[in-house]
Amino acid sequence: MSNRIRKRVETLRLTIRQHDHLYYVQNTPEISDPAYDRLFAELKDLETEHPELVSENSPTQRVAGSPSRTFESVTHSSPMLSVDNTYSDDELRAFDDRVAKQLGDSDYDYVVELKIDGLAICLRYAAGDLSLAVTRGDGQTGDDVTANVRTIRSVPLTLLPGKKMPQELEIRGEIYMPKSTFDELNRLRQEAEESLLANPRTAAAGSLKLLDPGVTASRNLAFFAYATGPLSAALGQTHWDTLARLRALGVPVNPHVQRAATIEEAIALCDAWNVRRRELDYQIDGMVIKVNQLSLRDQLGSTGRAPRWCIAYKFPAEQAETIVESIDVQVGKSGILTPVANLTPVQLAGTTVKRASLHNFDELQRLDVRCHDRVVIEKAGEIIPKVIRVKHAERPAQTTAFAIPQVCPSCGQATQRDKDGVYIRCVNPQCPAQLKERLRYFVGRDQMDIENLGAALIDQLVDTALVCDFSDLYTLDKAQLLSLERMAEKSVANILDAIERSKTRPLSRFIAALGIRHIGGQSAQILANHFGGLNILMAASSAEFEAVDQIGPTMGESLAAYFCDPQSRGVVERLLAAGLNPAEPAPSRQDRSLAGKTFVVTGTLEKYTREGIKEAIQASGGKVAGSVSRKTDYLVVGKNPGSKHAKALELGVEVLSEKDFEEKCNMPAEL
Ligand SMILES: [Zn+2]
Repeated sequence: MSNRIRKRVETLRLTIRQHDHLYYVQNTPEISDPAYDRLFAELKDLETEHPELVSENSPTQRVAGSPSRTFESVTHSSPMLSVDNTYSDDELRAFDDRVAKQLGDSDYDYVVELKIDGLAICLRYAAGDLSLAVTRGDGQTGDDVTANVRTIRSVPLTLLPGKKMPQELEIRGEIYMPKSTFDELNRLRQEAEESLLANPRTAAAGSLKLLDPGVTASRNLAFFAYATGPLSAALGQTHWDTLARLRALGVPVNPHVQRAATIEEAIALCDAWNVRRRELDYQIDGMVIKVNQLSLRDQLGSTGRAPRWCIAYKFPAEQAETIVESIDVQVGKSGILTPVANLTPVQLAGTTVKRASLHNFDELQRLDVRCHDRVVIEKAGEIIPKVIRVKHAERPAQTTAFAIPQVCPSCGQATQRDKDGVYIRCVNPQCPAQLKERLRYFVGRDQMDIENLGAALIDQLVDTALVCDFSDLYTLDKAQLLSLERMAEKSVANILDAIERSKTRPLSRFIAALGIRHIGGQSAQILANHFGGLNILMAASSAEFEAVDQIGPTMGESLAAYFCDPQSRGVVERLLAAGLNPAEPAPSRQDRSLAGKTFVVTGTLEKYTREGIKEAIQASGGKVAGSVSRKTDYLVVGKNPGSKHAKALELGVEVLSEKDFEEKCNMPAEL
């Protein structure tokens, strides 16, 4: 193997690391995503051709670890101490008095940091390469989560090269989940009728302790360093300088760290951030105030539990009090009954709150929430806030406990409690409320993505019996839709068009859209990748489902039961008969055969809709543009092509028939 290739691989890795740093740490990307993807693809190709060049810290190897059974225990070089908490300005002043008294005449100042609500972690770098990542654990020993931490894009696998690279560097910091990711994760869980995650911290902790690094990678975790550990030589005389040195090494340090000359300045910063914290895309639960001079820290020492040179100020919890006006019972898509409290509107964490979930009837009984009760509500993310406490002393006279519904509020059939579960369920397969929820899910953005088919229209379609299952959506005609309230020619045309376009959704979205119990978007993707086609999937036994990585027995049984049931099977068959063609564009092959190629499509195609061919091209790494230019590589021509064809001939762009196109990108055979 030539030196030229080795050199190129090194250059690519260095360039990619620098761009990762600009993107994930500095938030100032300098190249476009496609340009970055090209660098990455080139490196990956070279490593595939020359496997001897692959190194653990190559940017391509972030998700290379295989699922593990357990995590090894690692003893910390020195205990990771906790920090004492305070809740008032006076307690902060008392802290400063103690520091001043112990330090006598010495001059000192403070560094004030945001207290990120995440998970403490210790990272070790040997000669600039990440070698170990350990959770805080009990402070003495933690878990080796190196493979999972490698997937966090803001954690550098290799420190930026510089003048003085420390031989041994131990970094302590916080791993957190951005609020936006947390809310999205909870939105998906809510749709899949899974229990919601309590807060971003537990979500981050759970994600870091997943046994499969591939799943951790999908959780979008991030990292901020706040100190070096005792294993490494000091990077500066002060904490402030240490953080600056860490930044220079490419390690992310929170940009809002500030210095305070006095405790009063520190208190002012705490007050300011108590308000500004809502601007951040991560949750902070307070501030941390640290003596800046490292030599003085030694002098102050620790109490064994917490250092004396450091204190946390905790923000008051974001809670509000309001009155429960009524309690509704909602019926979910698989029949689960959920109590929801309607509240007198109240301001909480910057938004007006009118409703709060009570999760399930066990929770409702535990809290004993009643109509007209005064309650305390709290918010973890932007998802529906929850009732955490009833102010029993203020309960009006003659209220009664909310009774568990014996019948479904929608269809009136008797309800059932899940075997060894907390859920009360309507088990009537014909329940209109369930059908409405299933349809809402089916047309949702992450499933069949049928625009313009809103909740009110779904209600009408079900109430008028125009739609009794998913397949009825595809037989709707103009006259039927026009007969409904508030429907005009234009909106009907839009809806019919959106329904038509949904026929080409990939298999993964189709499986998710069916709303099979325990099968969310992620499992649907795994199933689509594994089985490739709907016919094979429908014929599989529960044992064959369970043999798929990450598909457990509960999911396997649920899938087998769904496809054995004549009724649900009938719906799927009618969907196929209506012209749906859910194929998966085989991502497992890592198909990049069209990478870097730009396509334009013109005329009417036989096998593809416009969306369909676009997805096929993109799935193989190609791009689709709207007009022909010198940058166009191929024009795909269907029947009755327009001026684009002439333009392509004029510019000498290669013209492909639909058949040429299929051969060119070697499309997977149809189902
Ligand atoms: Zn019902």
